Amino acid sequence: MSLPLPSTLSPSKVSSFTNCALAFRFTNIDRLPEPPSLPAVKGTTVHRALELLFDAEPADRTPERARQCLEQALTEMEQDSDYQGLDLSPAEAQRFARDASVMVERYFTLEDPSTVEAVGVEMMLTADLGGVTVRGIIDRLELDSESHLVVTDYKTGRAPSPDQLGSRMGGVHFYSMLCEHVLGRRPVRVQLVYLGGEPQIISTPTSEQSNRGTERRVKAVWSAIERACENEDFRPRPGALCRWCAFQAYCPAFGGDPAQAAVNLAGPT
Ligand code: SF4
Repeated sequence: MSLPLPSTLSPSKVSSFTNCALAFRFTNIDRLPEPPSLPAVKGTTVHRALELLFDAEPADRTPERARQCLEQALTEMEQDSDYQGLDLSPAEAQRFARDASVMVERYFTLEDPSTVEAVGVEMMLTADLGGVTVRGIIDRLELDSESHLVVTDYKTGRAPSPDQLGSRMGGVHFYSMLCEHVLGRRPVRVQLVYLGGEPQIISTPTSEQSNRGTERRVKAVWSAIERACENEDFRPRPGALCRWCAFQAYCPAFGGDPAQAAVNLAGPT
């Protein structure tokens, strides 16, 4: 017997499997429910506000317009099951809105959106990578002053320390590889726009070598997932992320039994 493979591979799945194979299995193969996370829902709200901002003509992408976009995003979120699942009190909801507003204001300290030539926002790209379907949603794809493609990813957490940087850039390099496969052009640059804590833009050039390296890494992760499914062998990898893991009670590294997760969390079928 073997476990079913996930149908696609995305940057978040690559990072999830690399961080902890067992947590990956709970989320992506067993599809066990997880409680909504406040930082993630706040991040979704800010992403939506910036997406709406880039729907406007360049000259209209002003701080005032961004405030209106955030109001719309917050209104939309009221209908979102993850937001509702947070069960915020009125005071907590106010704080949520204030935090999101601060991040949108910070965005304007990093760049002037009226000068950005966006060619796509929230772009979903899918490609076949030798038998594995890879997929990703690019926050923003734009043209630089020389009409070269640039991939931008917004981040609402804190910027990484220098030793974390390599792993944090994995997602945008994945997008660069996807662009090359789907659009036939390699972006010249990938960048992370950090809006939490001390806002900053972390940017790096791409190369033929970086795209090929990403492709090899993604294929290697896929092969490892195939082996893990074949052998039903997804091992826990305790680390810093355990603090936020919804499955700690079912993790052998914490004395739990993974088999109980499906029983307790999946609910009635
Ligand atoms: S608690 Fe840690 S080791 Fe266990 S499944 Fe979660 S992330 Fe993995």
